[in-house]
Amino acid sequence: QKILDVREVRKAYNGLEVLKGISFGLYRGETKVLIGPSGSGKSTLLRCINYLTVPDKGRIFLNGDEVLDTNIDAMRARMGFVFQDFNLFTHLTVLDNVTLCQVKVNGVDKKEAISRAQQELERVGLSDKADAYPAELSGGQQQRVSIARALAMDPDVLLFDEPTSALDPELTGEVVRVMQQLASDGMTMVVVTHEMGFARQAADEIIFLEHGHIVEQGPPDVMFQQA
Ligand code: ADP
Ligand code: ADP
Repeated sequence: QKILDVREVRKAYNGLEVLKGISFGLYRGETKVLIGPSGSGKSTLLRCINYLTVPDKGRIFLNGDEVLDTNIDAMRARMGFVFQDFNLFTHLTVLDNVTLCQVKVNGVDKKEAISRAQQELERVGLSDKADAYPAELSGGQQQRVSIARALAMDPDVLLFDEPTSALDPELTGEVVRVMQQLASDGMTMVVVTHEMGFARQAADEIIFLEHGHIVEQGPPDVMFQQA
């Protein structure tokens, strides 16, 4: 059973097609990394998966259920999304950031949500920052909070959109290490990134996009050998 099944997804902006019929599947525990030049359609593809960008054509299935505009809220609750710029609530503490969506979206009991938030903060190495506000944290720490928030929702799949591009090089490593750990723990993930070290280490498969097409697809040892 595929966790994610992307079939023939197309998207155009102002008549210009930026995704030209993209298909791929993702099994439980797999990490797929999308790479390719700037403008090749990586972010658009990732955003089409949870309808942050609505595809023009094609179908997307999550665990056998089709993602549709009629069920998108429920489907989004099952797909954790990690943004380039963290998207944390600045007026909430770290703990509240990781707790709130569980309660509001998943209807988890508050006590249970807090306990789960604490677990996930520990997993990303930020137990000691639970009472801090995002502005008091480094970018790398904020991104780890954002990952903890996504994990706390217990999603079927995690989607990462250039999670380290807004970070200084010295902060990139701490986020990449957390993501590598998740990949080796068997999380199911799709990652758009320019971090080739991560791709080489953590990807089960690399998908190379160019001009809205998949031009290469394979395990990292094969892909990097060709490069
Ligand atoms: P990548 O993530 O590979 O850099 P994107 O998916 O961001 O590529 O963009 C693919 C192409 O689509 C680019 O030419 C970009 O300018 C264009 N594009 C992306 N989003 C929009 C939008 N909201 N409106 C118009 N064009 C867009
Ligand atoms: P990325 O990091 O994916 O390359 P961009 O910097 O290309 O992102 O785009 C940032 C935002 O601007 C996105 O929301 C994207 O949809 C939008 N965007 C990108 N290109 C265009 C465009 N040509 N016209 C309008 N919006 C765009």
